[in-house]
Amino acid sequence: MALNQAEIDRLRTAAVGDLQNFVDGDWRNSSGGSEIEVISPCSGQQIGTIIDSSEADVLAAIAAARRSFAAGHWSRMAPQRRKAILFRLAELIDRDALELAVLGVRDNGTEISMAFAAEPGSAATTFRFYAEALDKLNGDITPTGPEVLSLIHREPVGVVGAIVPWNFPLMIGAWKVAPALAAGNSVILKPSEAASLTLLKLAELAAEAGVPAGVFNVVTGQGATAGRTIGLSHDVDVLTFTGSGNVGRHLLRYAADSNFKAIHLELGGKSPNIVFDDCGNIEEVARLSARAIFANSGQVCVAGSRLLVQESIREPFLEALVKAADATVVGDPLRLESQVGAIGTKAQLDKNIRAVEQARAAGDTVITGGEQITGDGYFFRPTVIAAKSEDSPVVREEVFGPVLSVQSFRDEDEAVRLANDTPYGLASGVWTQNISRAHRMVGRLEAGVVHVNCYGGADITAPLVGTKQSGNGFDRSLSAFEKYQKRKTAWIRIS
Ligand code: NAD
Repeated sequence: MALNQAEIDRLRTAAVGDLQNFVDGDWRNSSGGSEIEVISPCSGQQIGTIIDSSEADVLAAIAAARRSFAAGHWSRMAPQRRKAILFRLAELIDRDALELAVLGVRDNGTEISMAFAAEPGSAATTFRFYAEALDKLNGDITPTGPEVLSLIHREPVGVVGAIVPWNFPLMIGAWKVAPALAAGNSVILKPSEAASLTLLKLAELAAEAGVPAGVFNVVTGQGATAGRTIGLSHDVDVLTFTGSGNVGRHLLRYAADSNFKAIHLELGGKSPNIVFDDCGNIEEVARLSARAIFANSGQVCVAGSRLLVQESIREPFLEALVKAADATVVGDPLRLESQVGAIGTKAQLDKNIRAVEQARAAGDTVITGGEQITGDGYFFRPTVIAAKSEDSPVVREEVFGPVLSVQSFRDEDEAVRLANDTPYGLASGVWTQNISRAHRMVGRLEAGVVHVNCYGGADITAPLVGTKQSGNGFDRSLSAFEKYQKRKTAWIRIS
């Protein structure tokens, strides 16, 4: 569907109001009565409020999820019916796609062209993918002697907790909620306090599609209260998380302090984008490398935030890269001409500013950008920083903003050494026309995905895997279904 500016403009001022939690099939106010202001990064202005859930609010939602699971209206529903409801949900997401996309942009500032495809577009695809899969994954019969029949049943785990970040909330939320629901679980989802609006709307659409009351609950609020309560609950069987490593560590502790719930962590990255001198068209690779870091203002977990360029082409490559960075149109994310939108929050804007200050203090050279774009809202110029050394903070620490560090290398071994010299292991990119080198690099890079002669764009069929400190799990792909199922053996003596 082609996006239409007039339609976007019609939706951009729609009232948001004071939003409640969605629990047990209904909207619920907080027992404690606290709320959080929703500040739009596009304007810096408040556009509504969400509930700052108390422990009691979250426990009530978990109890509703547990009751619905035990009642079996969803967990024991015939798979064909469950499938039909999830297909209907995908249709409703498509029906309201522009409304969802604009609402999400007002909440987190992603440029509308990207938000439309990556948020409702990808969420609808994800619900369809897992709906299609749910009656195609069989249990097993294991090879035993003739006196025994050994069956392995696949069952839903029970109550799934999901905690997600503010970048791409609908896409990442769907990566977790769709397979969890498809497998027959009940779900309690906590969006980021910085971007909850589209996930509250998803709860409304799920109810409209026919997901029974209590099966899909959304509670908003701060991580330290609402997220922690989910993490420490004895009634949550599996917790799936996307966000920062610091919070991931808390969740592992909560599991140890409660019921040993499985914790699936999808965390941050500092992903190398490696350009060899045989990359082909330097201008084009530079343009795509700029896109790999500056799209959504770098607020992409897999962003190619560390450029490693072969020394022999460093100068022409940087020239083309800076040209692409400077030509990037940054502005109102709800204008179609904006290629890059806003920084998600004021705190994140300040983090970008600090990262540049820190780089200067470390002796790095800011080649372009490095400053806030003043005016309404939170905007930051695409920034390229030549690192003085591999120990520079801009090389080592995730900024999660439009800030690219640049290093160079002499040969393949040095490229591999620099690329892998990081605690993270989420994504990477390699640009080379040498097919043998491309395959070698796929084997040598420590990352969950190696993009070759492109950067980004993987779809629901392929897993997004975090290795090293980028996580212990993955979202997407058919295999993700297994995160939300448990196996049970029936060992039956038959003679
Ligand atoms: P964050 O870790 O600050 O917050 C993520 C979620 O955790 C939020 O909902 C927050 O409220 C909650 N939370 C915070 N403290 C908590 C606590 N003590 N207990 C339980 N929950 C708590 O991350 P963010 O700033 O929202 O997102 C940015 C981070 O997410 C970056 O590191 C980015 O790389 C990462 N990310 C990773 C992926 C991936 O697929 N690997 C995708 C997107 C973003």
